[in-house]
Amino acid sequence: MNTETEAPRNFIREIIDKDLAAGKNNGQVQTRFPPEPNGYLHIGHAKSICLNFGIARDYNGVCTLRFDDTNPEKEDQEYIDAIKRDVAWLGFEWGDNLGHASDYFDFLYECAEKLIEKGKAYVDEQSAEDMRENRGTLTEPGRNSPYRDRSVEENLDLFRRMKAGEFEDGKMVLRAKIDMASPVMILRDPALYRIRHISHPHVGDKWCIYPMYDFTHCLSDAYEGVTHSLCTLEFEDNRSIYDWVIEQVGFDNPPRQYEFSRLNLEYAIMSKRYLNQLVTDGIVDGWDDPRMPTIGGMRRRGFTAASIRDFCQRIGVTKSANTVEMGVLENVIREDLNEIAPRAMAVVDPIKVVIENYPEDKVEEFDIPNHPGKPEMGSRKVPFSREIYIDRSDFMEDPPKKFFRLGPDREVRLRMAHFIKCNEVIKDSSGTVVELRCTYDTEAVDGKTADGRKVKGIIHWVSAKHGKNVTVRLYDRLFNVPNPLGEDKEFSELLNPDSLIQMSNAVVEPALADAEPGDHYQFERTGYFVADEKDSRPGAPVFNRTVTLRDTWAREKGKG
Ligand code: ATP
Ligand code: MG
Repeated sequence: MNTETEAPRNFIREIIDKDLAAGKNNGQVQTRFPPEPNGYLHIGHAKSICLNFGIARDYNGVCTLRFDDTNPEKEDQEYIDAIKRDVAWLGFEWGDNLGHASDYFDFLYECAEKLIEKGKAYVDEQSAEDMRENRGTLTEPGRNSPYRDRSVEENLDLFRRMKAGEFEDGKMVLRAKIDMASPVMILRDPALYRIRHISHPHVGDKWCIYPMYDFTHCLSDAYEGVTHSLCTLEFEDNRSIYDWVIEQVGFDNPPRQYEFSRLNLEYAIMSKRYLNQLVTDGIVDGWDDPRMPTIGGMRRRGFTAASIRDFCQRIGVTKSANTVEMGVLENVIREDLNEIAPRAMAVVDPIKVVIENYPEDKVEEFDIPNHPGKPEMGSRKVPFSREIYIDRSDFMEDPPKKFFRLGPDREVRLRMAHFIKCNEVIKDSSGTVVELRCTYDTEAVDGKTADGRKVKGIIHWVSAKHGKNVTVRLYDRLFNVPNPLGEDKEFSELLNPDSLIQMSNAVVEPALADAEPGDHYQFERTGYFVADEKDSRPGAPVFNRTVTLRDTWAREKGKG
């Protein structure tokens, strides 16, 4: 069941309700989603996107998409484009409310001068090492910089010359003048501006000084008119500097920051730094590798936007840290795809079956519904002929009693088609089964045997003559431990060796030959699959496994 129809409840929405009731912010609600364009978005970001854009939607407010681009070294247009695509794909619109922190650099610069003029900021020329040394520790107060009591005029002059490019990188920084003895370390005169002679992906060579995150973030919020600035719990301490800057600069309706817990997902990494490492080390095939927990990876894997939104709603928004099991996400995807994915017959690992008593040139067409519970999804004709493929896992040469699939002298029903019995097993020189010789029951009518004989097993099949040979990629979790970052080992030692198994001899029913990239299917009895958005094209489809049908397997096992 999709939960999207109910409005979510969480502590942040309660705060907003109270603010609205108290008439704060002139009854406006404005949020923002502020990614740093230094990587692709991941499922953790989806939680933040659904929260911020969801609030704007439900409160008739505004949510801006703002690129927090204050670190030109690590940022790139490729990431900006990917982020926009992913937010839009998730189903959210920013309309005209698209910004970059770098769009506000002039405003930020003015705010910095304002702080200097108020005696609340100074240019510090200590070396990085001295600065660190004088910062103190959690138990010891810091020491004031020898440059701390410069005059306003001198500070202004130096800051303007920093901006004009007179000094090299690292020569000096602008610092807030707060309290070197504050028990909150972040308030010990944090840096506000640093010198970086580097071109910026969005504003080019205009600047050689760049504002720090803590200075930029709160002022960008205020500049845009954000009322509720929502971020993850690790920014709780930063709230003190956020509030300090906002108060010093002075705003009529100051934004307020609220923190919620990050999404952590088992078997996945939620940090762009480490995701970047997986890409650069070649462990995965790019940021949108279907094994990545990125939105782009999940889309290629076959997850739908609706299921990701549904997942974000189900996990909720709280302040308690927790890690969500991968099974929770997979179940949401299964539920969604169960509703929307047409069924199809596909044999991922084929063995050929020759039905000896079936005429050589005969072809039957079986009309098979596209969805067992949805007649409105229609049906298609699936051809049947003397030679078919079945899945290797549906045959056992020496099966136990409870194996209700095919074996020597055993009988199964082919899904929506005939009953076949295996008479002979043909192997190659290495002992691998390459072909089964079978006969079919010519007396059976409408899926019933004439003598009332019960046949328990039903297996899927594809006509050899009509089937299309395709590549199928069986994806599984990338890591073999639930918390890869918690292990004291290299990623390379923690990988699941079977995270990608490429099956190049798979055969699908003819209707799938022209699958469009992004088309979803349930391969009967096997799993949900999607035609890959990058490598697949009509006529030459490549299918990625989104998720197995674990529940069906469990049921089958239970039956057997
Ligand atoms: P990363 O650690 O992956 O680099 P980040 O927090 O530095 O993440 P940003 O681009 O700064 O990445 O994040 C944009 C927004 O998404 C921020 O408001 C951040 O709080 C939120 N966000 C990032 N990761 C998560 C997560 N795992 N769960 C929920 N929200 C997240
Ligand atoms: Mg960040």
